[in-house]
Amino acid sequence: MAIREILTVPDPRLKEVSKPVEGGVTDELRALMDDMLETMYDAPGIGLAAIQIGVPLRIIVMDLAKEGEEPQPKYFVNPEIVETVEETLPYEEGCLSVPDIFDEVERPARCRIQYMDYDGFKVDEWCEGLYAVCIQHEMDHLEGTLFIDHLSRLKRQRAIDKVKKAKLRALREDAA
Ligand code: ZN
Repeated sequence: MAIREILTVPDPRLKEVSKPVEGGVTDELRALMDDMLETMYDAPGIGLAAIQIGVPLRIIVMDLAKEGEEPQPKYFVNPEIVETVEETLPYEEGCLSVPDIFDEVERPARCRIQYMDYDGFKVDEWCEGLYAVCIQHEMDHLEGTLFIDHLSRLKRQRAIDKVKKAKLRALREDAA
């Protein structure tokens, strides 16, 4: 396993639409998912889409275990949202590709998803609460959409500028 670099805004690759995985879940894909999970734990974060490490495939990893709980890694290959409810749930979201920015996004409170898991088995289930928020946030990544794209243009630009500035500052500190 290896920790990969996480892309941050305004990296244009984050705007790419990811391609479906063809031909099932191979060992090569499992190795990629292992790397994604390790990268996510290291960050630390609760969800990561493959495009966030520059791989434009429809793959997501997630772990919603609370502090002190056993890890509960989840893997999603070719996930699809097949049903949502009208009721919405506002939630303060953040993203490893938009570090240190948090803002409220309102999404359907529950959704039904279909995907292949780590072993290639098909899963069909309803998500709610944080699980529903997180899977919809990660699914957005597969379409090249970030949570800040759900905010006003002003808030979005401010977030990108803040990330850019923080990155420059870090680079300068490294060079000093
Ligand atoms: Zn994200």
